[in-house]
Amino acid sequence: MADECEVLSVCLFFNDKMANMPGSAAGFKRRYCQGDNSTCARYMVLKALGKEKVPGDLFPNQEDKAKKIIAAG
Ligand code: SF4
Repeated sequence: MADECEVLSVCLFFNDKMANMPGSAAGFKRRYCQGDNSTCARYMVLKALGKEKVPGDLFPNQEDKAKKIIAAG
């Protein structure tokens, strides 16, 4: 478990740069970005495929979507 995600400073989600930020964003930030990033959908895709493959609209809690993106390569 990381204390703080290593890409937090450049992450679109953490920096509120995504469209339609959910009302639960603050909770997600605590849970993933400043908690355990290993289950963050954005982080999973970043680690598997590289940061250019992380969709602009992928939220941290969309693990299933992340798995599909990773499977599709
Ligand atoms: S949304 Fe995911 S990738 Fe972005 S800073 Fe938070 S834990 Fe890291």
